[in-house]
Amino acid sequence: MFRLYPVILIFLAACSINPAQVDAIPPTATTVRVIQTTLVPTMDRQMQPINTMMPAPTTPMNPACESTAGLPAVQHVVNATVDYEGHQVAVEQAIFYINETATPLSTLVLDIEPNRLPNAFTLSSVTPLETVTSYELTGRRLTLDLAQPLEPDCGIDVTLNFGLRLPVIERGLSGFTGYFGYSIRQMNLGHWLAVMAVYEGDEWVTHNVVPIGEQTVVDIADWDITLTVNNAPPNMIVAAPGTMTRDGATWRFVHPNAREFALSMSPFFNVYEQPTVDDVNVQLYAFGENTVNTAAGAVSGSQQTLTAAAQALEMYSDLFGAYPYDRFVVVQGDFPDGMEFSDLVFVSDRWFEINSGTAESFLTFITVHEVSHQWWYARVGNDQALNPWLDEALATYSEYIYYEEFFPDSTNWWWDFRVNQYVGDRFSGNRVDSTVYQFASIRDYINAVYLRGALMLDDLRAVLETEAFFDWLRRYAEAGEGRIVTPDLFWSLLTAEQLALVAPIRQEYLGDS
Ligand SMILES: [Zn+2]
Repeated sequence: MFRLYPVILIFLAACSINPAQVDAIPPTATTVRVIQTTLVPTMDRQMQPINTMMPAPTTPMNPACESTAGLPAVQHVVNATVDYEGHQVAVEQAIFYINETATPLSTLVLDIEPNRLPNAFTLSSVTPLETVTSYELTGRRLTLDLAQPLEPDCGIDVTLNFGLRLPVIERGLSGFTGYFGYSIRQMNLGHWLAVMAVYEGDEWVTHNVVPIGEQTVVDIADWDITLTVNNAPPNMIVAAPGTMTRDGATWRFVHPNAREFALSMSPFFNVYEQPTVDDVNVQLYAFGENTVNTAAGAVSGSQQTLTAAAQALEMYSDLFGAYPYDRFVVVQGDFPDGMEFSDLVFVSDRWFEINSGTAESFLTFITVHEVSHQWWYARVGNDQALNPWLDEALATYSEYIYYEEFFPDSTNWWWDFRVNQYVGDRFSGNRVDSTVYQFASIRDYINAVYLRGALMLDDLRAVLETEAFFDWLRRYAEAGEGRIVTPDLFWSLLTAEQLALVAPIRQEYLGDS
């Protein structure tokens, strides 16, 4: 028999310091190591949960590896039961993983994002026991020791059972992770499931958590999510991407080629829809009209957001490559900022609250920023901890080109309001290509990576000229599709002549020689 220990995160003297400081403490998670016995009495084995949605279990080890050809490298099949009023979720997550590296793998590493928070994640089992002999959970890193190495091109089935306890979304720095949490009118499940870590350069990549930026690095996978919502008010609405089917209190979402799967639910959502010219149904899940009174009359903030999202999706599809799904989801989130996920983005309630009712607003530029992450994150992946500029500088510059196209009279406003008031002296400050670990504050991080990043891209466009610049971005989007790329790919798509032209700009913003 094996025993399971609750995950305990130790926050030293947490009671004597303010919430912001609690956030700033590096995670000091205890390590939970469980040795699993390989021989399990029949009685106990019958009590193991059976996942009826997975394909019949293959031979635990050495399956017919050649039969994995053409399959996606990672498939997730999730059965989740939500206790809405209790703010808890019971999850059975079956993962099929194909070793696409050239190396036999004796361990697998998963990223357990909810375990960055205290008391949010409790692992009850990792099965099958014949395959996974032991496991260790430290912070968000879950290491599974395999009974036999997983050979290249071979696949393996692993099932995790765990419980989630959602935190209430609070004011202050901790509220920024409100994409995983609940408010009085909403439950958000972003970064709530296990994802496979990326194996690169003979090691599994997981990064330490800091309250600045994001630290996940994840490949695309196929997702099949069945969600049963219990103990909930009537008229529950679930906002999530993918192909949706519903049977009473059970929803199923099938979503291929996505880095993660995020959703939001509320009985108070109103759903606003607008098709793009490419027939993508852009949906906004919002708390009503979000009306603001302007000199020109009443303006619906919800309509404003929906229109901006649809315009941006059309424009970026034209510039960077077609959006690959028939639906895109925007959610009004009860937490302080925007947040991108694959095919679902949150836009903060705060931006609706202080909306000016015109395009010159956080509401508009944050919305289009998050839309652009469907290319600069969801489609072209990057290491968000070590190379955050690859997605954030491009997402910020994508805001600017949206204004150029749809609100040309507001481009100067955008530069002044968004960029110049923070980085007026464009030749100072941290390098654009800093890691998230090099900043003392979120403001410094945004100034360097997002804002000076946008200035750098604008300077690159000036020397390369507009047509060649956007041709470059499009080729980068195509070359990076479905991958996790580094800045090397970005620069490698320039000609020798172009590289010579941009060298002084790289020197200025990146410190490249
Ligand atoms: Zn962003």
